[in-house]
Amino acid sequence: MAELTLPLDRQYIPADLPKRIRHYIDSSFVDSLDGDTFDVLEPVFNGVYARAAAGKSADVDRAVDSAKRAFSDGPWPRLLPRERSRVLHRIADIVESRDARLAELESFDSGLPISQALGQARRAAENFRFFADLIVAQTDDTSKVPGRQVNYVNRKPIGVAGLITPWNTPFMLESWKLAPALATGNTVVLKPAEFTPLSASLWAGIFEEAGLPPGVFNLVNGLGEEAGDALVKHPDVPLISFTGESRTGQLIFANAAPYLKGLSMELGGKSPAIVFDDADLDAAVDATIFGVFSLNGERCTAGSRILVQRGIYDEFVERYAAQAERIVVGYPHDPSTEVGALVHPEHFAKVMEYIEVGKTEGRLVVGGGQPERFAFGNFVAPTVFTDVAPDARIFQEEIFGPVVAITPFDSDAEAVTLANDTRYGLAAYVWTNDLKRAHNVAHAIEAGMVWLNSNNVRDLRTPFGGVKASGLGHEGGYRSIDFYTDQQAVHITLGAVHNPSFGKVPDARSEK
Ligand code: NAD
Repeated sequence: MAELTLPLDRQYIPADLPKRIRHYIDSSFVDSLDGDTFDVLEPVFNGVYARAAAGKSADVDRAVDSAKRAFSDGPWPRLLPRERSRVLHRIADIVESRDARLAELESFDSGLPISQALGQARRAAENFRFFADLIVAQTDDTSKVPGRQVNYVNRKPIGVAGLITPWNTPFMLESWKLAPALATGNTVVLKPAEFTPLSASLWAGIFEEAGLPPGVFNLVNGLGEEAGDALVKHPDVPLISFTGESRTGQLIFANAAPYLKGLSMELGGKSPAIVFDDADLDAAVDATIFGVFSLNGERCTAGSRILVQRGIYDEFVERYAAQAERIVVGYPHDPSTEVGALVHPEHFAKVMEYIEVGKTEGRLVVGGGQPERFAFGNFVAPTVFTDVAPDARIFQEEIFGPVVAITPFDSDAEAVTLANDTRYGLAAYVWTNDLKRAHNVAHAIEAGMVWLNSNNVRDLRTPFGGVKASGLGHEGGYRSIDFYTDQQAVHITLGAVHNPSFGKVPDARSEK
């Protein structure tokens, strides 16, 4: 086995960094049954800093078996909502109390700027707190036909939920699925992204400390095509909640079809930000910069296409370029860093390839490669292309990095046509001070979520999800509760039983 290659003398390394990342099954950290591992890289020098257990179907079988036993024999699904809620609140408390350490590890593993990783750790705690509150406030439908019938909904956890997550903001996105799945009394098997397995392994300790019963949470690391695929095809996993690329989602749809599983699909995006000529330009420039360059541009809801009305186009581009040029690229652990390093050399290569494509498709005004001071690892300079035509690949395809395409438009109708002119439909942002226009444009856009004069700031009660190639189903608030539960309808007769009688004994007259 090759040595770990992290250049220890060259960069910041968190204290007590694990060298092995293992599965967590039935309350124990374990290796893969076949002993296989994969290398885990940090994104600044692409040094191998750890080896993670590479789960296969035999490991997934063990994890599902553990989760299944915890569901059928353990206390978790049978606890009162208040009791589960207390555990979830304790989880939130622990995550909050360790936010700095979580952020440190997440930033080291993923390349996210530390200040943004800290925000994501706190958001993860908030997800647990939110669902802890929601399940105790939860009411279900009851309906009545006077004098005849009462119907009520008996909401039940479903069983073992398979949770498959991506590498962008991994800990937070895991919390997004773990919190509602657990709150509703399910047991889980989590398969985190292979690029960023570090923070997922921290859940085990947090859950143990918070009092989650044994076997309820299980974690299998590994490649998507192996561990992820085995989870999708496991007959004892009735639910798959997946966040990742649209083409992986398509594959999972097909692979889950023979089992008729419940699927929640949060997929890719190429979200438009439309700036009309009556918009508050200061706010629009700030927001559209943050919208695509925060989280290194590795953000599903990134406003990666900016559509700007012709009358303000030149001014917008000038101001946007000047500000984008000033974005601070730096080491992920540096609190002043605004854009860190992309997660992995494979992803870095993909983003750099798009930048080269962009140079043939638009006018490069900022960036266009690695920053001078950071011409190593997976650093990419914030990159701005203007005058990008709608049929350009950098207009149509998800790049998932710090790269933006700016395109002019003339009328409201053209703005809507351009906004809708991709296969995706996750988010959209509209900047205008005209109330009617704001709502009419929002309604006409094919996107699961629209922000008017706002950045991506989301109230946890609202539905989250995309249309078209961006996903199927919505999570968020009660929609997550609905996904992770069966709503069994129970019907009770109150009055006389009204049965149409088949095979009745014929009466005397009709016998003659
Ligand atoms: P990905 O699809 O490559 O991988 C996501 C997860 O799926 C990983 O854990 C991976 O191991 C697993 N996987 C891969 N192949 C699999 C298979 N055949 N069967 C089962 N599991 C498999 O995505 P990624 O590159 O990790 O993440 C980036 C993508 O995620 C982007 O497209 C982004 O837009 C999307 N995303 C969407 C949302 C949303 O809510 N809509 C949020 C974040 C990220």
